[in-house]
Amino acid sequence: MKIPFVDLKSQYLSIKSEIDQEVLKVLESGSFVLGENVTNFEETMSLMLKSHVLTCASGSDALFLSLMVADVRPGDEVITTPFTFFATAGSVSRLGAVPVFADINEETFTIDPNSIQKKITSKTKAIIPVHIFGNPCDMNGIDQITKNTQIKVIEDVCQAVGSRIGEWYLGTFGDFGCFSFFPTKNLGAYGDGGMICIKNSQHYDLIKKLRVHGSGVKYFHEMIGINSRLDSLQAAILNVKFKYLNKWNAKRIEIAHRYTKYFETLIKDQKIKVIKTLPNTTNVYHQYPITCDKRDELMNFLKEKEISAGVYYPLCLHLQKCYENLNYKKGDLPISEKISEKVLSIPIYPEMTDLHIEYVTQSVIEFFSKI
Ligand SMILES: *Cc1c(COP(=O)(O)O)cnc(C)c1O
Repeated sequence: MKIPFVDLKSQYLSIKSEIDQEVLKVLESGSFVLGENVTNFEETMSLMLKSHVLTCASGSDALFLSLMVADVRPGDEVITTPFTFFATAGSVSRLGAVPVFADINEETFTIDPNSIQKKITSKTKAIIPVHIFGNPCDMNGIDQITKNTQIKVIEDVCQAVGSRIGEWYLGTFGDFGCFSFFPTKNLGAYGDGGMICIKNSQHYDLIKKLRVHGSGVKYFHEMIGINSRLDSLQAAILNVKFKYLNKWNAKRIEIAHRYTKYFETLIKDQKIKVIKTLPNTTNVYHQYPITCDKRDELMNFLKEKEISAGVYYPLCLHLQKCYENLNYKKGDLPISEKISEKVLSIPIYPEMTDLHIEYVTQSVIEFFSKI
């Protein structure tokens, strides 16, 4: 049975008539950037998060714009995790600032506040916790470090739209929360898109100008910004898909719980470990990662069974070629490095059927019964 890593085509087919209708309306309107669909989407997200929000062109730009407004300048330091997608640190470097990597927690794969504490210097301007795979970071631990300081907190929520700590959605804990609507994310457009959740209304006013080249009144520029806006087409698609977000996230959570239950014996026998979520939090499982010693063999075995599993992420950011100049070496962030060697994400997407889920589980169990 062929099981892809995500199945965007069957998702589209399940909402095709609504999507097609809204896309056609945009084409006929002749208005393609920002506009009514974007305003509607921002209102929807603002109601959900109970906060100010502004859309932009991508999750990477959401991070970049937040860092700009946090006044991150060349030479400043921004602490983040090396176990994330490159954009988290890349946006820091684009401003001439220095990403400083802290290690992660072995159970949750999220940044460890104790490790952050050790990396704080007089140059630390901001911290970017990443809610990796949808799993909420220890925001309370981070708050203990940053309260009564000038250090800004920029949450990378790109993989965690809908995840919560208590009743509060992620993205609302820090000064900024950065979202991505890249097609494979839990709320995905049919191209690039991003959004920033903004705590402070002055920051909101600033970002509203920065995303249109620093102008409040067209062709009058108060500051130097960038071009980073959401398309009407993407907003129209997101407005349709938003209606299904809760249902889709609930399905992901259900699948994750079923996987964990089916793997009970493998976990007890210490053949594999599964990701842990902090108490009183909700993980929307953008991915379902497991760790084991025979990761590559397992991945190849699943491949033979036509199951697409993926390694997110095979090389930590502090060991990437482009960051050689930062002078990290292997062993500096041992937990992140260990996880990157053992981690494997197995398929999890809302369109999976019972048959798919059982086939994946049985295949994993079969692999371990053979070795
Ligand atoms: C996807 C992603 C981004 C970047 O989002 P884009 O919209 O692709 O620019 C940033 N951080 C993390 C953790 C991501 O998964």
